[in-house]
Amino acid sequence: MDKNGSSSRCPVCRAKFRGTRQCSRCGADLTELMILSVRAQRCRVNARKSLFALNFEKAHEFAAAAQKEHATETGRKLLLLTAWLKAEL
Ligand SMILES: [Zn+2]
Repeated sequence: MDKNGSSSRCPVCRAKFRGTRQCSRCGADLTELMILSVRAQRCRVNARKSLFALNFEKAHEFAAAAQKEHATETGRKLLLLTAWLKAEL
């Protein structure tokens, strides 16, 4: 785990995950990571759609689900943003 609590690294050699099925450094199979990342991406798309629809409750739920699947720095910011909007409005 790095400082972002991110799982977007090769579990074998800790090389940065670049969205490929195979680690570019050690050749480990990253299919699982890939699936999680795609799922998280889909959640974030839904989170953004909810944001634009001013449904902050829903947006926060999607953002949280995305972080659970595959934590990223941008995802963390999205989660903070939706948490704030949800609390404020
Ligand atoms: Zn690797």
